[in-house]
Amino acid sequence: MMTPSNPFDFSGKVALITGGTRGIGKELTSTLAQHGARVHFCGTNRELGEKVADEINQELTPESAGTSFFQVDVADFTACKEMAAEITTEAGQIDFLINNAGITRDNLLLRLKESDWDEVMAVNLKGCFNCSKAVVRGMVKKRYGRLIFLSSVIGLMGNSGQSNYAAAKAGIIGFSKSMARELASRNITSNAIAPGYIQTEMTETMDLKAREKIIEMIPAGRLGTVNDISNTVLFLLSPLADYITGQVLQVDGGMLIA
Ligand code: NDP
Repeated sequence: MMTPSNPFDFSGKVALITGGTRGIGKELTSTLAQHGARVHFCGTNRELGEKVADEINQELTPESAGTSFFQVDVADFTACKEMAAEITTEAGQIDFLINNAGITRDNLLLRLKESDWDEVMAVNLKGCFNCSKAVVRGMVKKRYGRLIFLSSVIGLMGNSGQSNYAAAKAGIIGFSKSMARELASRNITSNAIAPGYIQTEMTETMDLKAREKIIEMIPAGRLGTVNDISNTVLFLLSPLADYITGQVLQVDGGMLIA
C-alpha cells in the first residue's frame, strides 16, 4: 500500500483517549483533534473535562469541532463499556484507543498502604484492560485498530518508592505485547510508550533538588515535554507505523539505555 501524501491526516478516524483532562492526555486530545480525528476523552473531573473540551473545540473549525468529554473512571468496568458503546453508536467505530489515564501513590514498601497498591493497579493497569475490552471487539469487526498504552521507564527499571507504579507500568507492557500477538492478524497494532520524566502536573510536585538530580541522569539534559509524547503517538497512529506492533518505544532523552 502506498503511503498517503499526509500520513498524519486522521480525518474520518475516531479516537478514545483516557485521562485527557490534563498533561499528556490533554495534549494528545488537542493534537489528534487538530489532525482531523474525532476525539473523545475521559477523566473523573467533570468541570475540568468540559472546560478542556470547550477550549479544544473553539480552536477547531465548526465542522470538525466534535471533541467530547466523558466523566468516566477507567477503574470502573461497566462505565468503560458504556462509554465505548455510546461512542460506537454515535460514530460507528473507535479506531484509536490511547490508554493514558494514570495516578501515583508513592511510598517505600514499608510505608505503602494496601489502598495505595490497589488504587494504582485499578486505574493504571485494570483501566487498560477495561478500556481495551470495551473497544477491541469493534476493532476486530472492522479489521482495523490502533492501541497505545502509556507505560513508563519506571516499569522497565523500577524505582525506589514506586513499587506499585512500577509494577502497574510493567504489567501494561505485558498486556500490550499480548494484545499485539492476539490482534495482529486483524490489522490491529498494539504498542506501549515508555516516557522518561515529562513536565506535567504529575512531575511538578518534585522539589528543585530532585529535579536537578533527575536532569543529571538524562543524557539529553532536559525533562521531556508533552509534545515529545504527542509526536510519538502521531507516528504510531500513522500508516508509517503499520508494521510496528508489540513494541515499547522509550521517549526519555536517553535516560534508560539498555
Ligand atoms: P497527569 O496527572 O497530569 O494527568 C493524569 C490524567 O489521568 C488526568 O487527565 C486525570 O484526569 C486522568 N485520570 C486519573 N485517574 C483517572 C481515572 N480513575 N479515570 C479516568 N481518568 C483518570 O499525568 P501525566 O499527563 O503526567 O501522565 C499521563 C500518563 O503518562 C500516565 O499514565 C503516567 O503514568 C504516564 N507517564 C507520565 C510521566 C511523566 O513524567 N509525566 C512519565 C511516564 C509515564 P482526572 O483528574 O479528571 O481524573
